[in-house]
Amino acid sequence: MMRKPLVMGNWKLNGDTKMVAELIAGLKNELASVNGCQVAIAPPNMYLSQASDQIKGSLIELGAQNSDVNVSGAFTGETSPLMLKDVGVKYVILGHSERRTYHAETDELIAKKFAAVKENGLTPVLCIGETEAENEAGQTEAVCAKQLDAVLKTLGAAAFNQAVIAYEPVWAIGTGKSATPAQAQAVHKFIRDHIAKQDANVAKQVIIQYGGSVNAANAAELFTQPDIDGALVGGASLKADAFAVIVKAA
Ligand code: PEP
Repeated sequence: MMRKPLVMGNWKLNGDTKMVAELIAGLKNELASVNGCQVAIAPPNMYLSQASDQIKGSLIELGAQNSDVNVSGAFTGETSPLMLKDVGVKYVILGHSERRTYHAETDELIAKKFAAVKENGLTPVLCIGETEAENEAGQTEAVCAKQLDAVLKTLGAAAFNQAVIAYEPVWAIGTGKSATPAQAQAVHKFIRDHIAKQDANVAKQVIIQYGGSVNAANAAELFTQPDIDGALVGGASLKADAFAVIVKAA
């Protein structure tokens, strides 16, 4: 089964009105001739509506960096999946290591958010991955399995129909130290095999992105690996030319 890779930019807490306008204009220009790859950007919530208007007529789709579990009500400061959908969001990044670390998000909460996002017609991008200490202790597969199982346990393998997984080793995020293509491939294969134990068809079609210091120089080699279906890109997604090189490599 051919999977169409997805390259998605996670802008994190960066940008203002002017920067959003300029970066999207640059991306539309750089990506005008691209096909064969899905492309998305995830600006801060504050700029989703602006981005939604600006990407019209291009191949770029819209992602959010988080969602609440609830669709409405007395939940001060939150953004609901319905609101994200309303402004044109398609993908929602969930369980990013920065949210697990700085906002104490647990596997259980992330599984609830995953369910809420799907119930409201959005596509979750579930981030999983081990810390440096876990990597050195040989726990990479156990950590990834536990993070996947939180979703599999409550929703079953069907959860990964119309969903994306991003393998993001924490030690590679924002450090300039990417996993090697062979290292990443081994974990991606483990992830796909883990899902295949429950449903081989779901495992075959699910997009598994790699994330962690992907840049214009290392993307092409990562994408030669059979189980790497694109990338979740942080730092390099803030420059139109670098992001375009990554998209074109996919
Ligand atoms: C990320 O935050 O999802 C990420 C992969 O960041 P970077 O590309 O900067 O390592």
